[in-house]
Amino acid sequence: MIEIENVRKSFGQLEVLKGIDLTVQKGEVVTIIGGSGSGKSTLLTCINGLEPIASGRILVDGTEVHAPNTDLNKLRRKIGIVFQQWNAFPHLTVLENVTLAPRKVLGLSKSAAEEIAARNLKHVGLGDKLSAYPSRLSGGQQQRMAIARALAMSPEYMLFDEVTSALDPQLVGEVLDTLKMLAEEGMTMICVTHEMAFARDVSDRVAFFDKGVMAEIGTPEQIFSAPQHPETRKFLASVR
Ligand code: ADP
Ligand code: MG
Repeated sequence: MIEIENVRKSFGQLEVLKGIDLTVQKGEVVTIIGGSGSGKSTLLTCINGLEPIASGRILVDGTEVHAPNTDLNKLRRKIGIVFQQWNAFPHLTVLENVTLAPRKVLGLSKSAAEEIAARNLKHVGLGDKLSAYPSRLSGGQQQRMAIARALAMSPEYMLFDEVTSALDPQLVGEVLDTLKMLAEEGMTMICVTHEMAFARDVSDRVAFFDKGVMAEIGTPEQIFSAPQHPETRKFLASVR
């Protein structure tokens, strides 16, 4: 599980995480919603140790992410992260792009990595694109390739940061369907999203972030039907 305990973080004078507490159990899907600049992306980058924190602790399966002796490379193999946009290597095929990390990081042979990559690409619906080049893919297909790339490392946790935000509206659905499939398979996921219908549909819990504070967390029913915090109400009114 992921345990976030009273985490604070600043960029210069600006405190962007003001004491975040959140525990995500194995198999749970937690969605984070909230306005721009509320600290959502920063929290995800702290969870896999891309950013230092000022105080508090983050534990992943009991390993403290920011402890000086923690093997971050080992930890990051457990945690897949997919961003709004991933720039694939344009001169490599889809299959080659997805085999890179398993070969370099896990040290798998070419054939073993290709088998894993092909399986994950099929899983996200790109079984017919293995030998295509990334520039030939639609935005939705590129994002599904990015998801397959993360899955090829056999992560135990997946972090998604607004993976549909850069997509044309007609391509959003196919990517959300992929996330939903992973959720149904039992993947432990933290998803930052602006897609409220998705958050409502797929999450076990929804957290609302406001200016570096987790103002409210609850079931989708609680957050969307009976939000307690005035800022949650304001935010939901603005996105509906
Ligand atoms: P969100 O994802 O909720 O939109 P972010 O976590 O990206 O918010 O950002 C929170 C705040 O931290 C914002 O005010 C943003 O400008 C600031 N910030 C984020 N990353 C950096 C950085 N690397 N350096 C300085 N300020 C940053
Ligand atoms: Mg963000």
